[in-house]
Amino acid sequence: MRALIVIDFTNDFVDGSLPVGQPGMDIAPRISELTQMFVDNGDYVVMAVDLHEENDPYHPESKLFPPHNLRGTGGRELYGSLKHVYDQNQDLIYWMDKTRYSAFCGTDLEQKLRERGITELHLTGVCTDICVLHTAVDAYNKGFSIVVHKDAVASFNPEGHAWALGHFSGSLGANVVAAE
Ligand code: ZN
Repeated sequence: MRALIVIDFTNDFVDGSLPVGQPGMDIAPRISELTQMFVDNGDYVVMAVDLHEENDPYHPESKLFPPHNLRGTGGRELYGSLKHVYDQNQDLIYWMDKTRYSAFCGTDLEQKLRERGITELHLTGVCTDICVLHTAVDAYNKGFSIVVHKDAVASFNPEGHAWALGHFSGSLGANVVAAE
């Protein structure tokens, strides 16, 4: 059994307060396409979405990044056509708030996956070298097989993006794939 995890593909992370920019916009159609394909196939689909509170002095990211994905803001909504795909299939997609880079940290993601007998995780979203990377590392340590869709991940940092793609395959044993 497999699952698709879409990581942080929100307005703030694509063209908002902490933007990937053009590389993020470029992968939007493929993320929507993959989401629809996995939904149509009956696979488990997770929107793993960063959640922050305004002026939270205890959160480590407060010192690292400008405010982003604040609760209740439009910046936290899914970007572009993915919002439409999600809205049309809300009962088939698990919306999961997360507060750290990894989708496993402080969430019930592992329980949800184990309950369903899911062993293979397909990773998409942003940023390749931050939240996708940390999620992949946790998935590796927990024994999941990993597939990274390189035409559906992006970063503001081209060098970090390229390094992470190599790390996925070379150190995490991930299958790094793209549509033909
Ligand atoms: Zn964050």
